[in-house]
Amino acid sequence: MTERYWAEHAWLPSGVASGVLIEVTDGRITAVSTPVEPSPGVVRLAGLTLPGLANAHSHAFHRGLRGRTQADRGTFWTWREQMYALAATLTPDRYHALARAVYTEMVLTGITCVGEFHYVHHAPGGAPYADPNAMGEALIAAAADAGIRVTLLDTCYLTGGFDRPLEDVQLRFGDTTAERWAERVSALRPDGGHVRIGAALHSVRGVPREQIGPVVEWAAATGAPLHVHLSEQPAENEACLAAHGVTPTRLLADAGALGPRTTAVHATHLTPADIALLGATRTVACACPTTERDLADGIGPIRTLFEAGSPVSLGSDSHAVIDLFEEARAVELDERLRTRERGHWRAAELLRTAFAHDSLGWPDAGALEVGARADLVTIRTDTIRTAGFTPATAAETAVFAAGGADVASVIVDGRAVVTDGVHATVDAGRELARALA
Ligand SMILES: [Zn+2]
Repeated sequence: MTERYWAEHAWLPSGVASGVLIEVTDGRITAVSTPVEPSPGVVRLAGLTLPGLANAHSHAFHRGLRGRTQADRGTFWTWREQMYALAATLTPDRYHALARAVYTEMVLTGITCVGEFHYVHHAPGGAPYADPNAMGEALIAAAADAGIRVTLLDTCYLTGGFDRPLEDVQLRFGDTTAERWAERVSALRPDGGHVRIGAALHSVRGVPREQIGPVVEWAAATGAPLHVHLSEQPAENEACLAAHGVTPTRLLADAGALGPRTTAVHATHLTPADIALLGATRTVACACPTTERDLADGIGPIRTLFEAGSPVSLGSDSHAVIDLFEEARAVELDERLRTRERGHWRAAELLRTAFAHDSLGWPDAGALEVGARADLVTIRTDTIRTAGFTPATAAETAVFAAGGADVASVIVDGRAVVTDGVHATVDAGRELARALA
């Protein structure tokens, strides 16, 4: 069966067009025609229709920290203690309930695919559940409930620092060795077309140098994306230099971990040589500006990485905010504050960073073109934020004026998940409140 959508305005690969008929069969775009008048029987999409947004970096359970970690000054490291306390309370059922609401919150803001950087694998104390992938499967089920695609970036996390074992809550994260991590991940046989399995190295703090290779090999053998937290804090760089005499980027490069299937998350505190390595290997840089500002991490050299050759993706990471429009504009606005100059990025470039589905292993998503997955996200152009929209400044409106609250309709793989700002099946606010009570 073919669905016919008529978009008042749409962001096509060739630019913004007005009066666009998008035909969808079996979850794929089969025709795009413009300019076309709306005919009877079409589903009208009033406003600006975009491809689905890709949230390239998520820890779903961190949503439970929103608004609860601001009372005392704290540091990244005291925030991490609060995060660990929350992680200690998760069971597969609790995690399913929380993630289902968080993923629904994402879809409501136009996100159609999430990269879940997942490391709470085991029961408290570190013993595997009867099903060793019970937690990952809870997340996959949550994504299905919310109507979002998920790449479960199953994370290898073996040490609490250079030459420090995992302790306390961290025991839940560990698989002892990279080989055992690979065994567990290989046993994941997820149901449904909405899921892919990817690999992650927690960080060079969390995976000893000699254990990085097997994770890289597993990702290469399965064609899976590989993600890694990189240089979010100067302390990580200092400890890596002290332990190994090289920067985290150099360590990953020497282990064969960089390349176009790899995403370096944060990439905040880099040397010029690090930037050259990441760019030359076409490693994706995932910026998470709202988390980085919340945690006082610093401002990463995202524009410089982009110019060096790294594609850029966006993540809401700790979910202090879930709004990729806000992340996209922060990439530019942070740079303005740092340099006291405007105009580092063009709005269309910033908007494209929100469509990095390929970095999550879905190269056939993120564009309104024939053959692509039918992810259609429509923002209203008549709200208090977006009124004044013109087709000529559509990208500027989306990036510098709109927010997730302006998303009226979300279609994921041809399925209407959000209509008139309302999710088809999940009451996210109520379920979030219940999950966080
Ligand atoms: Zn993270």
